[in-house]
Amino acid sequence: MKISGYLGFSLIDYPGIPSFVIFTQGCNFKCPFCHNPELISQRKKGQYSEEFILEEIDRRRKLIKGVVITGGEPTLQEDLPSFLFKIKKKRLLIKLDTNGSNPKMLIEIIKSNLVDYVAMDFKTSPSKYHKAIGLTENETKKYLKNIFESLKILRENKIKFEIRTTVVPEIVEEEDLIEIRKIIGENTLYFLQPFKNDKTLSYEFKNKNPYPEEMLEKYSATIKSKLR
Ligand code: SF4
Repeated sequence: MKISGYLGFSLIDYPGIPSFVIFTQGCNFKCPFCHNPELISQRKKGQYSEEFILEEIDRRRKLIKGVVITGGEPTLQEDLPSFLFKIKKKRLLIKLDTNGSNPKMLIEIIKSNLVDYVAMDFKTSPSKYHKAIGLTENETKKYLKNIFESLKILRENKIKFEIRTTVVPEIVEEEDLIEIRKIIGENTLYFLQPFKNDKTLSYEFKNKNPYPEEMLEKYSATIKSKLR
């Protein structure tokens, strides 16, 4: 596994579960608003070995009940299942954060009981998705197909999951949120996250102001989502 960061203890990354957070290196998207741009490069090596991270988890074993795997995009790493298995042996719950682009890996780890909770991004309405992930419309087509496939997997398997959208001005407007709600279904747990402009991949997005809180509250009420 290529691991470039970790957080020893968090109360906010796994709903209701004190957890250890692992940041994997490498992502297949280039979201211009990405808040972890240093984790995007797939060429970079990880900074921490699996052994080191597993020892750090052991040191906190009495404080934590779960581990969050986030990125970057964790499902791009072929050895994800074997790494999750090592964590599972410690009798910890696992939450995966994913952009939904790798349904093959998603179904593999769900079927092998290697994950307990999935948070998947649905970044904007399909017609604008290429703007959100910073790729061409052609490249985005393939990924969108995968994202719909991942959504189907989450719905059809008995796994707790949430869908989340970072509400980035211009990329996500009220009509996009309404469309996403229609796609994911009325009963799906849906979170909106505010956009933060203190660190972004694209310089252009550093100058964009996040939506005011009242606006987010209004959007959230319209589509019956929760705010983070
Ligand atoms: S925000 Fe986009 S580019 Fe950044 S890690 Fe997530 S999916 Fe990858």
